[in-house]
Amino acid sequence: MAGNCIRVKMMKGLVFDIRRFTVHDGPGIRSTVFLKGCPLSCSWCHNPESQSGLPETSIKIFPLEGRKFREEEVSGKWMTVEEVLNEVEKDRVFYDESGGGVTISGGEPTFQPEFLLSLFKALKSKGLHTALDTCGYTSWENLSLTMNYADLYLYDLKLLDDKQHFMYTGVSNKLILDNMQKLARSGKRIIVRLPVIPGISDTDEFFSALRTFLGKMKPEVKEISLLPYHAAAANKYKRFGKENLMKNVKSIPKEALFQRKSELEAMGYSVKIGG
Ligand code: SF4
Repeated sequence: MAGNCIRVKMMKGLVFDIRRFTVHDGPGIRSTVFLKGCPLSCSWCHNPESQSGLPETSIKIFPLEGRKFREEEVSGKWMTVEEVLNEVEKDRVFYDESGGGVTISGGEPTFQPEFLLSLFKALKSKGLHTALDTCGYTSWENLSLTMNYADLYLYDLKLLDDKQHFMYTGVSNKLILDNMQKLARSGKRIIVRLPVIPGISDTDEFFSALRTFLGKMKPEVKEISLLPYHAAAANKYKRFGKENLMKNVKSIPKEALFQRKSELEAMGYSVKIGG
């Protein structure tokens, strides 16, 4: 038992960011812990630096007094559970007052299953509300182990056509859809998050397939967030030397999704535009 405790204390996870005062990753005011590493490679990923499971160095160029300066920046820091806990506990008063808590996001958090589980256990031992933002591409065993500690799942659904899913994310969606149905049956609270991408998932075909798929999980899954694509990551792709496959795709204004929102609401879903 003591040995186990020491192991958890020494265990480190690769974290690429901890954002404080987030309001789009679950209820209330939250801190979002971003773990590095993801098995997918979505063409529209806003955090391309989150995909590799190793620290990465990039060069940041910033202008100052008419000159350009270069600064090396390392993305990804090995942290213990205790270090992450100390960081997020700083805002406990805001969580308590707003009904918030801590969300673990990524990358894909289940990419570091042991660290994720230890972090969840530590957060719950402090009585914090917890959410897991996942793409669902992991073994059912990994996902089900989080069920005792995650109060809420933010479950990302990218595409329902398997060929398209493979083309735009690099993996099949079978495991993702299967895990989501199992999770829904378990009665855990799920908010489905849909990145709405022009010409890819902002289509009638996608929304029709979505209604059929979600219909299988009624009444368990009732909440949906539509995430309009915004072209904000172009600079990051340059910095990390990655190809930006979405460079000609324009952002979707929020208003363009009102119609999709009302159609889903008419079917009884609670729908938000944004996280
Ligand atoms: S699942 Fe999320 S983090 Fe992973 S590649 Fe896709 S958008 Fe990026």
